[in-house]
Amino acid sequence: MTEEQSHEGTGWRRARSWLGRRFAPQSRLGAWLWRLRLHGPFPLLRTRRLATRLLGPQYDRSRRRLEIDITYACNLACDNCNRSVPQAPSSARLTAEQIGERAAEWEREGVRWERIRLLGGEPTLHPEFFAILDVLRRWRDRASPDTRIEVTTNGFGPHVASALARIPGDVAVNNSAKEATGAGPEMFASFNLAPRDLPAYADADFANGCRILKDCGMGLAPSGYYPCAVAAGIDRVLGLGAGRASLPPAGDELRDQMKLFCSWCGHFKRELPAPLGGQASSPSWEAAYAAWRLRRRAPRREGAPGSFPAAPERP
Ligand code: SF4
Ligand code: SF4
Repeated sequence: MTEEQSHEGTGWRRARSWLGRRFAPQSRLGAWLWRLRLHGPFPLLRTRRLATRLLGPQYDRSRRRLEIDITYACNLACDNCNRSVPQAPSSARLTAEQIGERAAEWEREGVRWERIRLLGGEPTLHPEFFAILDVLRRWRDRASPDTRIEVTTNGFGPHVASALARIPGDVAVNNSAKEATGAGPEMFASFNLAPRDLPAYADADFANGCRILKDCGMGLAPSGYYPCAVAAGIDRVLGLGAGRASLPPAGDELRDQMKLFCSWCGHFKRELPAPLGGQASSPSWEAAYAAWRLRRRAPRREGAPGSFPAAPERP
């Protein structure tokens, strides 16, 4: 490296560090710009059908990250839970055997996830939680050594604490350390205020998705693969059975699922979520939960472990 290049490097590093400090989401200016990027009139206009036709959909589904909802059981009942755990309780879960089948599928297809996150529900309540971890760690060690395996937990209560203490050191833990049932996470605040019920989104193209596609990744749940795990939770309540039975091929953006589910999802909204003083549901969600309660009284088809849909024959 020449002296000039070295000076350039130092200058650029200094500039980057200055920019980083000013524009990081933690700084005041950075937080303001971050909000402007995600919320406000421009992001809202970006969801319009015409803007989407001209510019293409805003977000693509991830090929690098996967969130697996292994259970919808939870020891808390937070308002506005974005998996509808208290709003529509269910015993549906993925078994260790099914996770093993998915891992074999990834190995066959040569998929190396950057990150796999287990959640739900409270994942440590799954009766096969440690067997599932073992399946994933064996797959990682064999086929994808750089994959980061994470568990997202509410950290609530002695049972969860004791399970967390036994998690192997090569698995990362995200502990939201919730303290009690009631107030849900702030970012879930308006999950049940569906954009389909709001005039501001009457012209929205819901195939745009939202930043969760990028930040959290694809979803895998008892009902199959989705662009995000939130969509799987919505499908569980609506009972559409729209999950993909096998890993979507690279060219499948899952736009049909986004069109179906993002119109229900409060995360789609581009304005800043207002704090809510409890559970808040718009008319579409009230009707969906009422229909779900009626279905639950009927002989049960959904909810049993092992309900992963049969994969269609590959051409
Ligand atoms: S801890 Fe998480 S999964 Fe459980 S009810 Fe609260 S938000 Fe939902
Ligand atoms: S379902 Fe919700 S979280 Fe998932 S992409 Fe659509 S708006 Fe985002």
